[in-house]
Amino acid sequence: MPELPEVETTVRGLARFLEGERIARLTLNRADLRRPFPDGLVQALTGAKVTTLGRRAKYGLIHTDRGTTMVFHLGMSGRWRIEPETIEKHDHLVLETGSGHVLALNDARRFGSIDLVDTDMLDAWPPFAAMGPEPLGDELTPAHLRHAFAGRIAPVKQMLLDQGIVAGLGNIYVCEALHRAKIRPDKEAGKVSLPALKRLVPAVREVLTESIAAGGSTIRDYAQPSGELGYFASSWQVYGREGQPCACGAPVLRFVQGGRSTFWCANCQK
Ligand SMILES: [Zn+2]
Repeated sequence: MPELPEVETTVRGLARFLEGERIARLTLNRADLRRPFPDGLVQALTGAKVTTLGRRAKYGLIHTDRGTTMVFHLGMSGRWRIEPETIEKHDHLVLETGSGHVLALNDARRFGSIDLVDTDMLDAWPPFAAMGPEPLGDELTPAHLRHAFAGRIAPVKQMLLDQGIVAGLGNIYVCEALHRAKIRPDKEAGKVSLPALKRLVPAVREVLTESIAAGGSTIRDYAQPSGELGYFASSWQVYGREGQPCACGAPVLRFVQGGRSTFWCANCQK
């Protein structure tokens, strides 16, 4: 499933082909993904010039000179294919730019989505309105977390997965950030000390930026025929490593928390 770093890498890759380009043709090969494509999508974007691209949590943003933004979500299996040699069965949306680039949104399981939103209304768009700060932005601070966690008895891991507290953090990155910050995943959020929160914020940023950098290695493939954006492997310190040694030598442990696996080291995380 594409996580924030994959979405960020996808946006950076797409920007190379789309920024400053006019959308010459937009083709929809079916009526919907998880939801129907927005009414008038083709008309709204055909001939529009892409100004910039951006990201909010796990949504990609394609801004145009018409004051509208195409918002995409990759769901479980979505990916953009760059300059595909042939259009395949699951290429549900195909963009052609004025200079001849072809970009196909491929989504076999169709849990993804496409929306058209007025650019100046994006902050008020319902999926964004209730979101907490971006983990890579300046608004995520130890003070923000202290305020959000104050008096809360829920485990710190659950709180970090709450999109209203921090936007776009997934299970892998929360496990890794808590390990790096040496915080037990099941510690009551309200009892995490300020020094620990001061370790946690940079830890969150580091695991995300390192993963984005790892994804950057796939950027080399973007210009090749049928290059695909979306997925890359990273090496984790604890995630998926139950029973293997932590860097400290103690075994990585796993337990199920809120329906999801938590990986951690009882020796490192207090
Ligand atoms: Zn350890």
